[in-house]
Amino acid sequence: MIIVMKAHAEPQEIEAVVQRVEEMGYKVHLSRGEARTIVGVIGADEHLIQNGTFEVMEGVERTLRVMQPYKLASRDFSEVDTVINVNGVPIGSTKIAVMAGPCSVESREMIIETARIVKEAGATVLRGGAFKPRTSPYSFQGLGEQGLQFLAEARELTGLPVITEVMSAEDVPLVGEYTDIFQVGARNTQNYSLLKALGKQNKPVFLKRGISGTIQELLMSAEYILSGGNMNVMVCERGIRTYETATRNTFDINAVPLLKELTHLPVVADPAHGTGMWQLVAPIAKAAVAAGADAIMVEVHPDPSHAWSDGAQSLTPERFKRLMGDLRLVAQAVGREI
Ligand code: PEP
Ligand code: MN
Repeated sequence: MIIVMKAHAEPQEIEAVVQRVEEMGYKVHLSRGEARTIVGVIGADEHLIQNGTFEVMEGVERTLRVMQPYKLASRDFSEVDTVINVNGVPIGSTKIAVMAGPCSVESREMIIETARIVKEAGATVLRGGAFKPRTSPYSFQGLGEQGLQFLAEARELTGLPVITEVMSAEDVPLVGEYTDIFQVGARNTQNYSLLKALGKQNKPVFLKRGISGTIQELLMSAEYILSGGNMNVMVCERGIRTYETATRNTFDINAVPLLKELTHLPVVADPAHGTGMWQLVAPIAKAAVAAGADAIMVEVHPDPSHAWSDGAQSLTPERFKRLMGDLRLVAQAVGREI
């Protein structure tokens, strides 16, 4: 349940509502908007609260039952879009964030070179995997902690915040020492121990949609992190598995505007994993920005034909630069900037 306070409700009126909610055994989540405060009532059986319980209290304008199973993630919970601040880079604002870099960190020189290239082209966040969730145990598994160190060095040199994947709850402290954003990959969208661990800390979390996951399942996974107390969550469409085999995945363009309807969290599009083909990355990235994505994640490699993972969907520096120019025009056309 959401309790909408009147505009200019007195602080003691808000406090009285919070106390009443807590007395009843529910958790409270306060959202202080510019005009009014919203009190989120969180609990497994909050649907049992009698109508009128809060409406009679001073300062309460109305209450709202959130029909979706996700509550804190729901658009009802916040009319305004959540903006996550990552070391000064806003994600979810009118300025579209671009996260770019290789699929995997391959060496110190390679990640530093790529960081410089993507920064110069206008990227705002550097991506690079150090712990790689590969389909085959015989494929390159990532450089692990050394890869994280190289990423951190690339951040020092370029000033770009970094995002990298964390694959298990036990790695959260280690990855958290280096990264600015935790990436949860499509194979881990429903790894609830990992989600709970990420909910207990405050660094932003970039949550990908599961390979065969529904939009509701994605938002329920976001809810795990939010309900743990971490409100810095962004959700990412990265393609889903369908009957189509001509592309690696089917990028679900519907998901972008639909997620913007259903949630206040920033929505990211990943056209690299969504298609698996570099030729499709730019068109789908442009489509996603036109459809309302708040950020784009793309894979860029200095020499894709020699990439240790995902070369076929990685952009060369030149192609990335061209894409950035095109994205600026599309962003402008939909009232945003890059
Ligand atoms: C990645 O970003 O390199 C990755 C492994 O993505 P996904 O989890 O979407 O497959
Ligand atoms: Mn990849």
